[in-house]
Amino acid sequence: MSESFDLIVIGAGPGGYVCAIRAAQLGMKVACVEKRATLGGTCLNIGCIPSKALLQSSENYEELVHKFADHGITAEGVKFDLARMQARKGEVVGANVKGVEFLFKKNKVTWLKGHGKIVSAGKVEVEGQVYETKNIVIASGSESVPLKGVEVDEKQIVTSTGALELEKVPGHLVVIGGGVIGLELGSVWRRLGAEVTVIEFLDRITPGIDGETGKMFERVLTKQGFKFKLKTKVTGAEKTEKGVTLTVEPAAGGTPEKIEADVVLLAIGRRPYVEGLGLDAAGVALDEKGRIKTGHSFETNVLGIYAIGDVITGPMLAHKAEEEGVAVAEILAGQHGHVNYFAIPGVVYTWPEVATVGFSEEEVKAAGVEYKAGKFPFTANGRARAMGDTDGFVKIIADKKTDKILGAAIIGPDAGTMIAELALAIEFGASAEDVARTSHAHPSLNEAVKEAALLVANGAALHI
Ligand SMILES: Cc1cc2nc3c(=O)[nH]c(=O)nc-3n(C[C@H](O)[C@H](O)[C@H](O)COP(=O)(O)OP(=O)(O)OC[C@H]3O[C@@H](n4cnc5c(N)ncnc54)[C@H](O)[C@@H]3O)c2cc1C
Repeated sequence: MSESFDLIVIGAGPGGYVCAIRAAQLGMKVACVEKRATLGGTCLNIGCIPSKALLQSSENYEELVHKFADHGITAEGVKFDLARMQARKGEVVGANVKGVEFLFKKNKVTWLKGHGKIVSAGKVEVEGQVYETKNIVIASGSESVPLKGVEVDEKQIVTSTGALELEKVPGHLVVIGGGVIGLELGSVWRRLGAEVTVIEFLDRITPGIDGETGKMFERVLTKQGFKFKLKTKVTGAEKTEKGVTLTVEPAAGGTPEKIEADVVLLAIGRRPYVEGLGLDAAGVALDEKGRIKTGHSFETNVLGIYAIGDVITGPMLAHKAEEEGVAVAEILAGQHGHVNYFAIPGVVYTWPEVATVGFSEEEVKAAGVEYKAGKFPFTANGRARAMGDTDGFVKIIADKKTDKILGAAIIGPDAGTMIAELALAIEFGASAEDVARTSHAHPSLNEAVKEAALLVANGAALHI
């Protein structure tokens, strides 16, 4: 008989590995099954971390070429070495995945290497061995959504995985899908010299983000050289000797048109990944979108089987998966783990960055809530001026009667870091006045948060 455990987690992405570590910290005997050669899941291997490594390298290059002159710094003969950039990305990923391996050892989590299949509640099969366990947490993640007529080869027609591995800057990169992943990776290759066209079915990019912020984002990216074809659908892709010929037409139907691309990035979203998990045999139910159905405590319909992360409902974000990993481990330990979905920030790591938390103005309006909004531009923020990064604003939305913060959106330099203050404010149930009365260091970008809060609380900011 193989070893038995208190908990077997399937998948070692940010949901799974964090769950395994927290459960071990709480005294459980834990194993985590991972079929990839390294730990860390999509996020560390082919998602968040490698994309941010390339975003940083390409942003450094763009700053040197286009932004330093304004500071009186001239750099002549600036070149980049893509092979080195890619190698550095690999080193960053390597350090991160090794870090998770170290944490597993430190917390005595057993890594069961290979494909995990649920035999039944309490039994998981890995590479022919069946392990017994009191509980199972599924954290199997997600995969790219395919598009009919656009066959991915990860060379000319790529998903985000192939787009992170290109060995040459494409002359013309066509991105299908104006969401976060397409815009981040489109930014990497645009900064390195590609012409980038984004084809989006809807009439706006980054659907779901506060409308006013999304519009400004589109304007800024257009200024940077992005071309957008909105309300357009891709109906086919044909590989040619030179690249790919895409057929597109208006979303509502109409005359087709051809677009030539060197590389096509298919980025129309991600879907839950449940292949080979044995869910049918175990009787685990899925919802209409193929996600594992879960209740308030992440329990599935089968006793002793839980699910978290991208494979269940909610935003497909690494930190959301992590929060769920911690919560389910605490629940299994008899504690009261929970996730405040209202306070989960979302960030687009372009430059400027875009970050949101809580409700958008459209959502508040649709819910019929009486609200007040305050918006403070970075053009009026001393630090942003000193940086030479004044595109964007901080926007805060609060309940009209109680002044409680309901949501926030930031477009601007380091928005992804700044949003933490507003996530914390929401987590603590803060009012706009609470934020407005908090001393913010001068000169700092976060003063724009204080000023937006002043606009909401007092109807007047100090510096505009
Ligand atoms: C290009 C890109 C950039 C991204 N950038 C960000 C970002 O900046 N910020 C952010 O918050 N999110 C980002 N994301 C999303 C983020 O990666 C996911 O939300 C996150 O990884 C989900 O975590 P997870 O633990 O649910 O699943 P995953 O990270 O997908 O991990 C699931 C793991 O389970 C393993 N697995 C699946 N089935 C089995 C099985 N049967 N047996 C054994 N192992 C199995 C898989 O091999 C995988 O390693 C990005 C995604 C992509 C693609």
